[in-house]
Amino acid sequence: MALDKPLKDLGLHSERVLWEGKGPGKFEQELAALESKVSLTTLQKAVAWSQTKSMWPDTFGLACCAIEMMSIVSARYDIARFGMEAFRSSPRQADLLIVSGRVAHKMAAPLRQIYDQMLEPKWVIAMGACASSGGMFNNYTILQGVDRIVPVDIYIPFCPPRPEALMEGIIRLHEAHLAGIPPAYERREVAT
Ligand code: SF4
Repeated sequence: MALDKPLKDLGLHSERVLWEGKGPGKFEQELAALESKVSLTTLQKAVAWSQTKSMWPDTFGLACCAIEMMSIVSARYDIARFGMEAFRSSPRQADLLIVSGRVAHKMAAPLRQIYDQMLEPKWVIAMGACASSGGMFNNYTILQGVDRIVPVDIYIPFCPPRPEALMEGIIRLHEAHLAGIPPAYERREVAT
């Protein structure tokens, strides 16, 4: 439990891994299977797993996409299966901001304030064409992509994205976190 690296990173591997283009050999594959069978993991991995099972979105909707977002808590889609049904009204209790809809310049400052009030680690999903790039609203009132004011982890295409697409994005976010990929704010600066 105290290891902070998988066993293969601690020297238990064959020379095959030094051969560029070759995937893990039989030895590495068996070692990975053994690790998962005996539940050998790191505290960091265990914490990441628990975070993916208790990710709480902020109650925040901007336009038509928000209707699709709201439906993920319904019995039909049942996002509670992923430990995410608790939309929080306070950003201090939320760790996921789903930007669902076009962002008017007037809303940019409040949106950034909400993001800043969220505790770390935190993630952002740009839901739909408008949040990702301004969509069809290529005009002076609409921000041409929410990544101009907050770092975005996942972009979801379509107008509007169906609830299934949003859930796919959320699952990808969980997978990225479990794989040890840090949140977007740790990886790069906000586009200006
Ligand atoms: S992407 Fe389409 S559905 Fe979503 S906010 Fe823009 S216009 Fe509305």
